[in-house]
Amino acid sequence: MSELLLVTADRAILPSGQSGATSILADDGLIIAVGAPNDVAQDPRAAIAHRVDWSRRAVVPGTVNTHNHSFQSLLRGIGDDLPFLEWRDKALYRYSPRLSAEDMATAALFAFGEMLLHGVTTVCDFYYLNAQGNDHASATIEAARRLGIRMVMARCFYDWDGAPAAYRETIPQAVAHYESLHKRYRDKARHLVTVQPAPHSQHGATPAMIEAGAGCARDAGEPWHIHLAEESYQVDQSLARFGKRPLHAVSELDVDMSNMIAVHGCWFDAGERALLADRGGALAYCPGSNMFLGDGVTDIVDLVGRGVRIGLGTDGGCSNNRVSVFDEMRAAALLQKVHRTNGQAIDAETCFALGTRTAGEVLRIPVGQIAPGQRCDLVALDLDDPSLWPVQALEKNVVYALSSRAITDVVVDGQEVVTARRLTNVPLDEVQARVAELTRDWRRE
Ligand SMILES: [Zn+2]
Repeated sequence: MSELLLVTADRAILPSGQSGATSILADDGLIIAVGAPNDVAQDPRAAIAHRVDWSRRAVVPGTVNTHNHSFQSLLRGIGDDLPFLEWRDKALYRYSPRLSAEDMATAALFAFGEMLLHGVTTVCDFYYLNAQGNDHASATIEAARRLGIRMVMARCFYDWDGAPAAYRETIPQAVAHYESLHKRYRDKARHLVTVQPAPHSQHGATPAMIEAGAGCARDAGEPWHIHLAEESYQVDQSLARFGKRPLHAVSELDVDMSNMIAVHGCWFDAGERALLADRGGALAYCPGSNMFLGDGVTDIVDLVGRGVRIGLGTDGGCSNNRVSVFDEMRAAALLQKVHRTNGQAIDAETCFALGTRTAGEVLRIPVGQIAPGQRCDLVALDLDDPSLWPVQALEKNVVYALSSRAITDVVVDGQEVVTARRLTNVPLDEVQARVAELTRDWRRE
């Protein structure tokens, strides 16, 4: 017997542009009807559906976080404001190699639990603490399942010998582990867990390792992720090692760029942006993290104009340090406007799409819009919260003015995972106690 859900709210952000009272009918987590409450009520399935009443609330699509490192939430505040190499050695390399599978679950409950409370319904975790196995990645996936958040496990391919041993694998190890994890969690029906390959970067993965990751993506029919051109010195390194700028160097490898998701791309020049568009590659864009670390400004206005698919990401909890895609919508808009000294450089509607619809397209999962055929991932916003007034400008206000205080309820795949501002499936007290215990002796010094 299928599970029917009927959600009704006073306002909505819909692809049709309609924004009045709306009902959404879902069958086993799939949206099957959207419309005015009286129209949807005509559907005989609506009569027997479980009803969720979001009156005095607006329903918007769940947000999609295309780039994160969940374990980094544990390091929040520990290495802030340090030069990158000091942050890496004193925080990242000092604490991350000691984490166990259970600690990874704690990190994921913390990062993903906080994200759910901020309206993130899909998170992509770019995951490089694999310790030559899948125990850590599996513990992270199980934590996501427990919370009820939708997850993409971007399993890393990493072989740079300057990093801690816990990050590194041989090419055969990385390929075998990717394939077994992908097989174990394959979920093409509900897309609640998706496993995608992620060769770390030009500095974290050799060209052969990058090709291995892209090859696994081709075999699995999934996109692949890679950090590129985040900081300017990485362009210099690529020129020195390969005689080409980062994207040009990658394009010379045996890889398919049409299913590539480049992460950051702050220093892509016009030639690289044209190449990305030409090959049909996508971008995960993390404006909050790029500002926090002083990386640079990706030219999103140009890339959107060229038709490149772009999704927003929060990046790790110690390089932002927030976990809200709504915040990234605002950050993206403001950063592009100031970079071009032009208040019309990009608009709220475009930035809203970057955090919802096009982010779903980047990850190739049917999420990000409230429409039939999409998975039922929804967020309720409290219309009595002053950050959304006046409500007739709802979409502008969601991007530019929304307070996270207004986020009251979250549905993922037709299941209520946040109700009345509380996680439904995992007590926040438990997460708090686990984080406090794990990080008790961690110091900023
Ligand atoms: Zn990253």
